[in-house]
Amino acid sequence: MKELSQLAGQVQASTTMAIDALAKQMKADGVDVIGFGAGEPDFNTPDHIKAAAAQAIADNLTRYTPASGTPALKQAVCDRMRADCGVEYQPSQVVVTSGAKHCVYIALRALVNPGDEVILPAPYWVSYLELIKMVGGVPVIVTAEESDGFKVTAGQIRQAITPRTKALILNNPSNPTGMVYGREELQGIAQACVDQEVYLISDEIYYSLLYDGVGFTSVATLGEQVKRHTILINGVSKAYAMTGWRIGYALAEEGVTKVMANYLSHSTGSPCSISQAAAVAALNGPQDGVEEMRRAFEQRRDYLVERMNRIEGVSCLKPEGAFYAMMNVERLLGSTICGERIQTSDDFCAAFLKHGLVATVPCSGFGAASFVRWSYATSMENIQKGLDRLEQFLAKTEK
Ligand code: PMP
Ligand code: GLU
Repeated sequence: MKELSQLAGQVQASTTMAIDALAKQMKADGVDVIGFGAGEPDFNTPDHIKAAAAQAIADNLTRYTPASGTPALKQAVCDRMRADCGVEYQPSQVVVTSGAKHCVYIALRALVNPGDEVILPAPYWVSYLELIKMVGGVPVIVTAEESDGFKVTAGQIRQAITPRTKALILNNPSNPTGMVYGREELQGIAQACVDQEVYLISDEIYYSLLYDGVGFTSVATLGEQVKRHTILINGVSKAYAMTGWRIGYALAEEGVTKVMANYLSHSTGSPCSISQAAAVAALNGPQDGVEEMRRAFEQRRDYLVERMNRIEGVSCLKPEGAFYAMMNVERLLGSTICGERIQTSDDFCAAFLKHGLVATVPCSGFGAASFVRWSYATSMENIQKGLDRLEQFLAKTEK
């Protein structure tokens, strides 16, 4: 047999998806496991969105749509982005994809030649690293320390840029850190990109989930030059609790969206017609559900962070957005818990799942080896129980 693609062979499975699948399987097998692995809202998709999908089926909107999305959805994306983020795009500058993850992939496809460097601030969402590899790009990791609030500086980005740099992927608010870049910080980073003709892929999918009154700045509002270098990534998965519907979108210069649309026409054909109708209802319809979910996430964050910081052996920064918290387990490395030797965050998560029946994600796959990610997109009751279990588990630490 001839060998499989070398490029494909380098791609690792998604840790987040794997842990979520494992926790769901354990639950289905009757194990009382609590899952903090998946980054998906535990809320149901709002009723008016589901009704729009049912209506789309009744109206026989069951055929292929244009490859890069229906005109109605592209318009709805422009209107919502203008209202929420103050960015100005035309429908011809929008492509709709089967989820924002695919959108990042297609954006990288549109930009990257084999061997091009793509700068990725760490901690990063696990898929970015693999997506860069999947298009033959070379990831260049720039690390943001916990002591810097997990945020990279413009100076770090400038230093990382070489003649081979094609793009920077920025995720704001961030998965996995929950940190939010302010306008000035963004301005510096964006200017570094503009000065060196580097594209800025800005994944802003968590923009509606901000806490403590923190405001949101989209990089596409930082002036025409920055906007011309920007590919905005967004989608309905997080804000409208629509992870299973698989609708994401990119907004960019027409030259970029045209190439992305060509690529889509051969890869997915078109996004699901029913899901697109549902997304139109999500974006054009009442937005109070978004605020309700945001408030619930904020309460959960407050409880989780406050209590976690009172537990001996671990700590965590207070995230300002998204629904993730980074638990620092550095002080536990080298110890034994429940008879298991803990050398890495992977060891910690494996032992915590086995003995504590709590699923969390080791951040080794996120470029932050001594951290563990908790997604607090789960009920307050689960969060309370999960932290009870953390306390019980850590009580069995031997030095
Ligand atoms: N970007 C980030 C930062 C994410 O956390 C996710 C969640 N999977 C996505 C993109 C992809 O979202 P989806 O494919 O569900 O639209
Ligand atoms: N983005 C979510 C997470 O990080 C969903 C899973 C995934 O797509 O990776 O957990």
